[in-house]
Amino acid sequence: MHRMTNQQVTAAVACACAGLLLTSRSEAFRMIRNAGVGRTSSGSTVPCNDPGGFVHWTTSSVGWSLNPANQGSKAGVVGALQNAMTSWNQVTPASYTVVYIGTTSRGFTTDGVNTVMWSVGNGCTGGCLAITALVLQSGQVITETDISFNDAATWNTNGSDYDVQAIAAHEFGHTLGIHHTEVKKASNRPTMYANYIGLSGRTLESDDRDALNCSFNRYRPAVLVVAGVETGNKTMATLSARPNPHGANLRFPLMHEDHVRLDLFNVAGRHVATLVDAEMGPGEHEVAWDGATSQGQVANGVYFARLATREGRTSATVILAR
Ligand SMILES: [Zn+2]
Repeated sequence: MHRMTNQQVTAAVACACAGLLLTSRSEAFRMIRNAGVGRTSSGSTVPCNDPGGFVHWTTSSVGWSLNPANQGSKAGVVGALQNAMTSWNQVTPASYTVVYIGTTSRGFTTDGVNTVMWSVGNGCTGGCLAITALVLQSGQVITETDISFNDAATWNTNGSDYDVQAIAAHEFGHTLGIHHTEVKKASNRPTMYANYIGLSGRTLESDDRDALNCSFNRYRPAVLVVAGVETGNKTMATLSARPNPHGANLRFPLMHEDHVRLDLFNVAGRHVATLVDAEMGPGEHEVAWDGATSQGQVANGVYFARLATREGRTSATVILAR
């Protein structure tokens, strides 16, 4: 009788906070703990509720660039990477937006650009298929990540080994602070299983989704930027951003006079500039940004613009490549 009561209590708690409770199981997802500052490809495995916490973003949006050198130029690679990003973007209630920005000549270095590349080395040789590096600030905050696929292996996007999307889904999981799962069941293994599991690695299992929701629940991003219109704002105008030689043009239509606030954030979710904070009339509006902030010019890279009116909020990715 006493045991049965305990089970009922446990079941009720599980409904309220499944992510936390799952970590008390013998096998479950694990997060990356590393309290160091700087660039690292290592960390200890900890449960979601570990008192020491784990590495995490403070923004919900992460932009990625591809270095097309070596096998990064193979047909289908961009689509495979985007599919892997979409898998993580579809996890709810976590609402992360991992987006593909375009190509870059940057490499596996700390340079403010989240880069995917194919290379031999970078700490990934022999049987290693890919490696992720995290750049950490104090407080276990991730400010940049890079992924290096082992160019010595043969990579494919047509369903034969090794599958770019499956490994990309796994590595993007690491870039979101998720370590290797301890779940070792024979079928439907989580994407975050330590070894290559073939095409089944493309799709996330509940253990993978629980891991991202764990991070979202424990370290709710300060800046919730989502692609397109936020929930419940069907009349909200869209915001678009186009690069120009001196920066970027941000464009948005207003159906009627409204108070407009247009803010810019870096990939770590820190506010960098307010471009507009004023009443504006109906019509198409375009605002140019040359990278200027109250602290001077920002570096080239990926930023996020957020448009807020009385109707709601919307956002766009801004690329500065001057
Ligand atoms: Zn791994």
